[in-house]
Amino acid sequence: MRLGMIFRMPKKPKKAVRMRVRIAVCIFFGLLISLLTAFVPAVFGNVAYVGFESSTFYIECKNPPRYLGDLIPEFRAAVWCAPNEPRYGWQNWLDSSISYEVYYYGEPFIEWDRTVHGDIPPYFSIRRGSFGFPFKCMYADELGVANGAGSYTLTFFDNCKARSGLRLGVPISGLKSPMVDRILPMTFHWGGLSLNVLIYSGVCGLFFVLPTVIRRMCRDRDGLCAECGYKIEELLVCPECGRAACLAVD
Ligand SMILES: [Zn+2]
Repeated sequence: MRLGMIFRMPKKPKKAVRMRVRIAVCIFFGLLISLLTAFVPAVFGNVAYVGFESSTFYIECKNPPRYLGDLIPEFRAAVWCAPNEPRYGWQNWLDSSISYEVYYYGEPFIEWDRTVHGDIPPYFSIRRGSFGFPFKCMYADELGVANGAGSYTLTFFDNCKARSGLRLGVPISGLKSPMVDRILPMTFHWGGLSLNVLIYSGVCGLFFVLPTVIRRMCRDRDGLCAECGYKIEELLVCPECGRAACLAVD
């Protein structure tokens, strides 16, 4: 009895450890694939096709970016944009993994006169590009400001960039789409990321489970124990591992 326990002891934790390793591997690949669904469209998607006139919709926005705080005027409105020239096949998938929201602050398109407006521009915009599939899981912001403040604009922009940090993403050097710089997003939509990781981890999990399910089905069909492969024919319980046999019904 004791001897049996000693011999059996190491077996059980092994199975649990294997399970934990599998779950970790699934989550790792789920995360990796989720990140790729954001990075690949950011690098190869046609961000130049995003139109601001033909496919622009005002959206209800309760939670505009406020990380620039008192540097910029009050939030006014937000619009949603999407690629306006549909492409086909895998390119269509790339474009559908990209969407843009533009947040407007202050009054639109007013010249910045510092004797009137001071150090806060009368107009400001944040264009947020979101990437990911099926849910948008990463984003990068682009800042736009009213003209007219001359060299002060640069100082102002430096202040904004310092506050924005990684929200502005990382420019991909050498890669330019016709209209805009390509930016690699570096910040997360946590909700979208969680859902994508869940979905892709689940798909990875299927790849672990599927071979076992198929092997068991094959063993059942061949009159073998589904668990250990011992030939059980019409026995009710496998003499090798003690598993109850699945009785075939004719
Ligand atoms: Zn067995």
